[in-house]
Amino acid sequence: MSIDLYCVLGNPVEHSRSPWIHARFAELTGQTLHYGKRLVALDGFVPAVRAFMAEGGRGCNVTVPFKFQAAALAGHCSDRVALAQAANTLTFRDGAILADNTDGVGLVNDIQRNAGFDLSGRHLLLLGAGGAAAGVLGPLLLARPASITVANRSEPKAAALAARHAALAAAQETELFCCGLSELAGSFDVVINATASSLGGGAIPVAGSTLKPAALAYDLMYGSAAQGFMRWAVEQGASARDGLGMLVEQAAEAFLLWRGVRPPAQQVLSELHAVLRGAA
Ligand code: NAP
Repeated sequence: MSIDLYCVLGNPVEHSRSPWIHARFAELTGQTLHYGKRLVALDGFVPAVRAFMAEGGRGCNVTVPFKFQAAALAGHCSDRVALAQAANTLTFRDGAILADNTDGVGLVNDIQRNAGFDLSGRHLLLLGAGGAAAGVLGPLLLARPASITVANRSEPKAAALAARHAALAAAQETELFCCGLSELAGSFDVVINATASSLGGGAIPVAGSTLKPAALAYDLMYGSAAQGFMRWAVEQGASARDGLGMLVEQAAEAFLLWRGVRPPAQQVLSELHAVLRGAA
């Protein structure tokens, strides 16, 4: 009997903990599958997906920088992909590609359930307008914060992302603003770094004054790459959280889509924390 194959496609992808997480989900839910990781050339995303399908792959996760291409490639997109125009989870069925995006629900579950921080009525700053930011904006709006400001290095991308979400923001009675990083003003209850600045070892993309006292500062990156942002946040008096919980929670949603079984995400998150502490 052939084993069901899944993988994560990205560039870079070497740092990814997704294979470990999915292997653990499979063990804990009694599912039989193999989940690998594949480094994809920057101009090679579509052939890489087609090759994995031809090998019998059942689905894949998609990470930086291919999430927009993943949505465009799919024959069917979920409502959340239609809004984000970015996908992190592809399912292959009868030769068709179905796209979904579990990043946002993963982030919101990690902030609200795992960190115990209620987003409703808060003022949020979302840094970035790439595939990750696009995927989390809709689910953040569904948590009914008072406002969300989307700030990106390239302002037109922030404006386009906010424009796509204007109707949802109005329905949620959440104020939605956008600006370039250089025009950013004000302070916020929650600052979410969805830029790739930590991944590239770049500088913190905003001033410390963006954090209100006792704010939550969240970097979607995790592991050593997130440490600079986390240290900076603590120095400003904020509580800092990296994206490891989001990684596990978005993986749990993908696993549920693929296998029809919800894995124990909180257990796997504490196990992963222990593994990483042991490796440090
Ligand atoms: P992407 O589509 O390539 O977008 C990159 C974003 O970062 C763009 O908004 C870009 O701005 C901005 N950027 C890049 N370098 C910057 C710098 N030095 N200063 C300020 N802004 C910078 O990537 P992505 O898919 O959105 O991923 C972003 C990050 O989220 C990555 O670190 C990824 O690993 C992480 N992530 C984590 C999880 C998780 O589960 N924890 C899930 C998804 C993503 P411009 O538009 O101006 O170029």
